[in-house]
Amino acid sequence: MSSMKDYIIEQLKAQIADFKMEIKEQNVGRVLKVSDGIALISGLSEVMMSEILLFKSKGEEVVGVALNLEEEIVGSIILGDYSLIKEGDEVVCTKRILEVPVGDSLVGRVVNPLGEALDGKGQIKAEKYYPVEKIAPGVITRESVRQPVQTGIKAVDAMIPIGRGQRELIIGDRQLGKTALAIDAIINQKGQNMKCIYVAIGQKESKVANIVAKLEEAGAMAYTTIVLAGASCPASLLYIAPYAGCAIAEYFLDKGEDVLIVYDDLSKHAVAYREISLLLKRAPGREAYPGDVFYLHSRLLERACKLSKEYGGGSITALPIIETQAGDVSAYIPTNVISITDGQIYLEPTLFYQGNRPAVNAGLSVSRVGSSAQIKAMKKVAGKMRLEAAQYRELAAFAQFGSDLDEETRIKLERGKRLYEIFKQDQYAPLSVANQVIIYYALINGLTDNIPVEKIREFEKGLNNYAELNNEAVALINEKKDLDPEVEEKIVKLVNDYKSTLDYLIV
Ligand code: ATP
Ligand code: MG
Repeated sequence: MSSMKDYIIEQLKAQIADFKMEIKEQNVGRVLKVSDGIALISGLSEVMMSEILLFKSKGEEVVGVALNLEEEIVGSIILGDYSLIKEGDEVVCTKRILEVPVGDSLVGRVVNPLGEALDGKGQIKAEKYYPVEKIAPGVITRESVRQPVQTGIKAVDAMIPIGRGQRELIIGDRQLGKTALAIDAIINQKGQNMKCIYVAIGQKESKVANIVAKLEEAGAMAYTTIVLAGASCPASLLYIAPYAGCAIAEYFLDKGEDVLIVYDDLSKHAVAYREISLLLKRAPGREAYPGDVFYLHSRLLERACKLSKEYGGGSITALPIIETQAGDVSAYIPTNVISITDGQIYLEPTLFYQGNRPAVNAGLSVSRVGSSAQIKAMKKVAGKMRLEAAQYRELAAFAQFGSDLDEETRIKLERGKRLYEIFKQDQYAPLSVANQVIIYYALINGLTDNIPVEKIREFEKGLNNYAELNNEAVALINEKKDLDPEVEEKIVKLVNDYKSTLDYLIV
């Protein structure tokens, strides 16, 4: 009997020996007020900016993020269901900055800004977690833009070229094809070693579902991630969405890959941030935006970069989108974002309604760094194209008044008409750079002068099909990426051969 007792005592002693008392420091506060996705908390003394807070309410945990740090009170946005939270609930600090899951497993998926799957294909298996906010790479790690992003959109690739690592704004009123432009650019990245991320901020979920279907159809989901904070999401999620998308992009950047990221759109993002700021009772400034709304977008777009070889050589190209009201580019948010980016693609209502789609206004659009990234062949034809387009715009305004024009002016006008015809492009039909070079070369060298203007688009389609069957010229442009006499000869031959099959030439 006694041996049994000894045995139990031994056991107990052993257990006590293993017992370690742990004291865990935890910063705990209480909810003072909760409304519209915002909570004010007292008693959190050592909370960090952007730290994750856990609201504990009757066994449910809701996640929040600290945004306003004041002496007595902390203002926090709530990322989950805020209707669960009550006054007096406990809030604990987590000592973690807000993070999102990143990794190759996110490719082809639709997620919310917290990295939770929205596509019903099961949980995301995260390889790593990246902080949502990060300081942008410094100057030492960067190099200048030198590789092109081929958008496949004729007006853009020729006139407003974009380079890897650039930030190019797409700006215009509602319903002018801003999203269409960005989606076509994503579709055209097939086989170009580019990961794409489309961040939808405050858009109708049905529209985004449509976009996903289109991308899927085009085979573009094989390299694309969609981050969706839809119109029905609280402002807090909309606010985080672009940063989360950027964090996902940075994972690929760190692996030395190239990424194209679209923020659609930053106007709605600014509005969400304004809503949060007003609820947090920050002082409103111009157009009721808070004072730091410039920083909101500059710290995001500064994360787009082209890294030098020693730092992996990856890049993030950003295409932010801004919606203007009645074409007003001098409103607060548009001017801010114009000043942060390296150029803008300006879409114009008159062009759109005249049927010039994509409605890119070549005169008001610029790309400050992209031309150094164009392939040589494109650079050579694009320079002349830009000149032709500018001359046409000027002459067309005058030609409305005068009837007898000299021969030179007449030729310029006729060519300009054809040029603007060529700029028209259907949705979901991006064109490869070699095909673009061919049609531009034909135009600036007068090979299309005897094609009737109304037949130009038909001619171009036919020529592209013909070039696919007789692919010497295309192959040579892709190989040499330059225009030398041999390439030029091949292009001229291709165009003339095709023209000889046509019966609608002007004689
Ligand atoms: P929103 O302000 O609603 O976001 P948006 O500027 O993003 O609009 P889109 O939704 O991309 O515009 O396009 C508006 C409409 O124009 C759509 O119906 C689209 O199909 C059409 N569209 C866009 N680009 C073209 C094009 N190149 N050719 C023909 N139709 C086009
Ligand atoms: Mg849109």
